[in-house]
Amino acid sequence: MFSDQFRRGESEKGKLAGVKGSKLISGLSDVAWKAFQSVNQRLPEGESIRPSWAPGPLLKSYERTSPPLGFPRETDSLCPTCVKEVRNAVITGEVSLETLMHQHPGEIKAQIVEDNGQVVMRKNCPKHGEFVDVLSTDLDETSKLLKTKTFIDTELQTFSSAAARC
Ligand SMILES: [Zn+2]
Repeated sequence: MFSDQFRRGESEKGKLAGVKGSKLISGLSDVAWKAFQSVNQRLPEGESIRPSWAPGPLLKSYERTSPPLGFPRETDSLCPTCVKEVRNAVITGEVSLETLMHQHPGEIKAQIVEDNGQVVMRKNCPKHGEFVDVLSTDLDETSKLLKTKTFIDTELQTFSSAAARC
């Protein structure tokens, strides 16, 4: 999770290991990205890739928009308790799988805000109350990160680890 990465970064040794690791990962993703771009750019205009798992053709680079970053801002999130409840209900057969797939149970808005020198995500579930996740304990570092691509990767990681916790 985001905050864990910062905590890990507190020791010099941890910091170096983290830098090496992220350099390697960004190097690899750079290679993958270039390979993808070379294929993508060779496709004739109007011909988008459509993988079997996708509901529609993938958007071309110029059709895509960047997600908004930074704070304060509102984002889509999930109530971890609602998600757990729905998953269990699907397993026991009380709720159909279609409900889980199409009705987006547990989806709530979250506010990413500064709070006491930290960056936190606050969300309020009408049923389960407030959840607060610390995204970063270092405001300055986060502001620097916001200017890099790393932030998006970290935020995605936070989202998937939060989902995995449910
Ligand atoms: Zn809930």
